[in-house]
Amino acid sequence: MPVLLILLLLGVLGYLYWKRASTTLTRDCRWRRIGPGQWRCAFCGAETASQDSPLMCLRLPDEKS
Ligand SMILES: [Zn+2]
Repeated sequence: MPVLLILLLLGVLGYLYWKRASTTLTRDCRWRRIGPGQWRCAFCGAETASQDSPLMCLRLPDEKS
């Protein structure tokens, strides 16, 4: 019985579901790659350096207005 394979499949599905759910929470941010390892948010203008697309918005709640 390939129990390990089933457990692995469930783990992958759970990870994908968690990733999708956590990404949906911050979908206001639209990260665009502006260079190698450089990302810019088209929604709030935040910039960050990361290998992968950032998931969280870097918007500061108390920015100078
Ligand atoms: Zn943002």
